[in-house]
Amino acid sequence: MTGRPRVVVVGGGLAGMAAALACADGGAEVTLLEARPRLGGATFSFRRDGLWVDNGQHVFLRCCTAYRSFLRKIGSENHTFLQPRLSLPVIRPGGRVGRIARNGFPPPLHLAIAMIRYPFLTPVERVRAARAALALRHLDPSNPALDTRTFGSWLREQHQSRNAVAALWDLIALPTLNLHAEEASLALAAKVFRTGLLDERSAADVGYATAPLSQVHGAAGARALAEAGATVHTRASARRLIPSDGGGFEVEGDGLRLAADAVIAAVPHDRVLTLLPDGALRQPVGQLGVSPIVNVHVVYDRKVTDLPVAAGLHSPVQWVFDRTAPSGLDRGQYLAVSVSGADREMGERTEALRLQFLPAIAAMFPAAREARVERFFVTREPRATFRQVPGTGAFRPGPSTAVPGLFVAGAWTATGWPATMEGAVRSGKAAAEHATAFVRLRSRDLERFALEAAQSSVSPPIGRGIRGAQERGPERIALEAAEPSASPPIGRGIRGAQERGPERIALEAAEPSASPPIEGQVPV
Ligand SMILES: Cc1cc2nc3c(=O)[nH]c(=O)nc-3n(C[C@H](O)[C@H](O)[C@H](O)COP(=O)(O)OP(=O)(O)OC[C@H]3O[C@@H](n4cnc5c(N)ncnc54)[C@H](O)[C@@H]3O)c2cc1C
Repeated sequence: MTGRPRVVVVGGGLAGMAAALACADGGAEVTLLEARPRLGGATFSFRRDGLWVDNGQHVFLRCCTAYRSFLRKIGSENHTFLQPRLSLPVIRPGGRVGRIARNGFPPPLHLAIAMIRYPFLTPVERVRAARAALALRHLDPSNPALDTRTFGSWLREQHQSRNAVAALWDLIALPTLNLHAEEASLALAAKVFRTGLLDERSAADVGYATAPLSQVHGAAGARALAEAGATVHTRASARRLIPSDGGGFEVEGDGLRLAADAVIAAVPHDRVLTLLPDGALRQPVGQLGVSPIVNVHVVYDRKVTDLPVAAGLHSPVQWVFDRTAPSGLDRGQYLAVSVSGADREMGERTEALRLQFLPAIAAMFPAAREARVERFFVTREPRATFRQVPGTGAFRPGPSTAVPGLFVAGAWTATGWPATMEGAVRSGKAAAEHATAFVRLRSRDLERFALEAAQSSVSPPIGRGIRGAQERGPERIALEAAEPSASPPIGRGIRGAQERGPERIALEAAEPSASPPIEGQVPV
């Protein structure tokens, strides 16, 4: 390896862009390959009859810290709106409005007043819901036992009625897990409700883009990557990643062949296996399945609601957003209805959806009854997320693969988060950290190897060897391993460091008796 290490990132969604930016920040020469003509992946917009249309409404929460810092990094934060305080109207057909909102008290009191006032639960259901919320705060989302059962079964155990599930729990579970509580993993639900609502007062303040998604993510990401010195090839589909004899990779695609010291595959889970060498992933990622999202788009000739966002109750409308300004519509109102867990709606014809959704919107917003529908169309994303059912925790790999120098990223990887924009950005950053540590370690190993060969040294040309580890002591080693940017993991060489990750290495280095810090060969 001479000069700057070369990292190729395959896939230009949020995970790939975050990974590429972090690798460029880490000093690597970065090339990003994206199969489509634009960046942004599952978040994009297109032009239709003079409007900017998003492929699907995207929402984030204040607790999505990695995603929000990504927005800042690419200069897009000003194209989003974040509520100063969670407040979401819930509307029943006929127009009765309830509100999921928070106050300024610390948790769990931050939701108490809204719960007491929430009109769609009986007094008994309210008390039981509060008890269940308190019980949720004691669930550990990383406990594998939680991933063996559904959120729905747990809610039943907590005496939650069908009405309480529909009027409260599913309002949050569906858009965040892209499945009904009845099907979703309890582990992921615990993550959503704890991190997103219950642990921190302001965690659930809701944010969304105020400009077309392609502008907020794809175009801004492309600019940021160019400024960071990364090379981006769109319409460039990678076909195979071939490990080279002397270490590193050949990335083969449509009319391209690139050499790389490390590769990050940031493609969807149902594409990744065709790209990676056989055996690179131990987890059966093909079993992650898919769950669809459908968006119903309606343009009225006049304004039918003043609300920027609302949930529908006992209605096919799950969540509805006012997209008038971002779309560029200059007269009337453009509403986008987001339907998660949309297995049924995926198969419905547009005309059938029209017959369901127009009356449902009119039942929520009476002004829509008088309004003329100028446009009605549907966007369908059959593979919007993986299917977040029990058992999927075991199918989600971390950033490392069995092939040294090859890493994976994507909302489907083991981020601890559900398949979200936050998870995607976190995965990209994690993969970049591993890749950067790997190329640094490899270049040091090569330098050492050359030096030691030149000096005919007796010390082993592997890692920094026993002597170095002994000289520096466990604390320093632990520190370096935990901060891969400061200095990469040492001792077991590249393969071991990659497989074990910084925390485990730090632990082992701090407890030399548990596992000796030196072993094996460096596969250079
Ligand atoms: C309709 C819809 C609504 C959603 N709503 C929300 C929401 O409200 N909040 C939220 O947080 N999340 C939401 N999500 C989920 C979120 O969009 C995704 O989790 C996230 O964007 C995934 O990012 P990613 O980078 O992991 O994958 P992707 O965005 O899928 O990116 C992968 C990229 O790899 C490219 N690629 C694939 N194969 C190759 C190849 N061989 N060579 C080169 N490139 C390749 C693809 O073209 C793609 O651009 C929604 C998703 C959809 C579809």
